[in-house]
Amino acid sequence: MSEHYRIVIETFSSTNKHSVERKVIKEYKIKSPNSIMDLGFRHSEQIEILQEIQNKLLQEQSITLKSPLDKCPACGGHVRLNGVEPSDFHSVFTDHRVNVHRLKCGKCDWNKVSSIESLFGTSVHPDLAKMQCEAGANHSFRAAQKILNLQSNGTRKINNHDRIKKVVDSIGGEIKKELQRPFKLPANHQAANELILQVDGGHLKSDDPEKSSFEALASVIYRPEDVQKKGERGFIESKQCAASALDDQLKTIKRNTLIAAKKQGLSMTTHVTALCDGAQNCWSVVDAIKSQCGSLTTILDWFHLSMKFQNTAMPPEHKIKLIRIKWHLWRGHADRALLRLLELKELVDIKYKASITTLQTYIENNETRIVDYRLRYKNGKAISRQIAESTVESLINQRCKGKQHMRWSRHGVHCILQVRAAIASKDWENNWEKTILNATLKAA
Ligand SMILES: [Zn+2]
Repeated sequence: MSEHYRIVIETFSSTNKHSVERKVIKEYKIKSPNSIMDLGFRHSEQIEILQEIQNKLLQEQSITLKSPLDKCPACGGHVRLNGVEPSDFHSVFTDHRVNVHRLKCGKCDWNKVSSIESLFGTSVHPDLAKMQCEAGANHSFRAAQKILNLQSNGTRKINNHDRIKKVVDSIGGEIKKELQRPFKLPANHQAANELILQVDGGHLKSDDPEKSSFEALASVIYRPEDVQKKGERGFIESKQCAASALDDQLKTIKRNTLIAAKKQGLSMTTHVTALCDGAQNCWSVVDAIKSQCGSLTTILDWFHLSMKFQNTAMPPEHKIKLIRIKWHLWRGHADRALLRLLELKELVDIKYKASITTLQTYIENNETRIVDYRLRYKNGKAISRQIAESTVESLINQRCKGKQHMRWSRHGVHCILQVRAAIASKDWENNWEKTILNATLKAA
């Protein structure tokens, strides 16, 4: 049995056998663990080892770093190397100083200290930017700061909440730009027979003192066969999401929803079933799909419709009547429901009449989208967003609502939502490297 344990870095040349260089990073006496605490390395030790191993690799790599300039930008003279200068580099769990060449003109007095940032456009490794972006899209920026510092076992300036916000802003902004470019169908595109579209809105408190709130919209589109019924609510195996918090007469949410639908297989033969809670702007987003699909069925979300009944004030003796009216709607008979509501209105006090009127207006406005829910339910077809995760709940509310009376700017929310929609659509998995590099190059 060995008594000691040593971590050594070897650098060597494949051609010159004598050029092996060894550096001892850590040396330990192997002890029998007294408790689980002594088993393997502590978190702090793991970070330290990583720090040292990477320091050595960076030291070797720094020798190979080339200046982007060979001519002086001032006089065109030949640029010479003039010593080195340590420069910041932020890796996933550790921060480093990497030597970078100082440059000097041979003719005039121009000189420049290059840095990792000036050489690569950023001093942050994209893997760290990805973690910051995901943490900031899923948690408050301050919570993201805590999480990332926990993982790194120490406070790092680079993980400051302001930095994380900037990362989310720039990456969200890049996704926004990507969505504005002409959309090309992927090579493996397969037309869908049927798609389900849900559009939903959420109100957020505005940081603009002139306005109290603004609305963000989110849509999700998926194939009905991708709904897995696990547990009560089920989940959607593959879906595309779109979201917008911009004040642009729904232009962005319409465009992004259409792109999401195309990615999910929308074609001129696809039948689209759209489920909404009855808000007019949600239906307007659905209308943007109309000319791009085979046929479209719009359905007033059953869950939302029944919530409206639940929230209608009614004296106890007439409650049963209200429930019966709801069952007319369950069978798709909006006309009968409206007639019965009119009769019910005659029976109640003035204070209840108003709430019946609200319900009447809601049903009238959405009459053409009230379908035979019972039949659809029997046939296993979607009648409500409750069958799968609610879009607005998962995309908007989970991140942007309820916390510390948070106030938001449309731009800030829009950036967060672009990242959240990309993550939920699994687009992020395939595209994050390109997106992050483009976002950081832009900043360079
Ligand atoms: Zn010069």
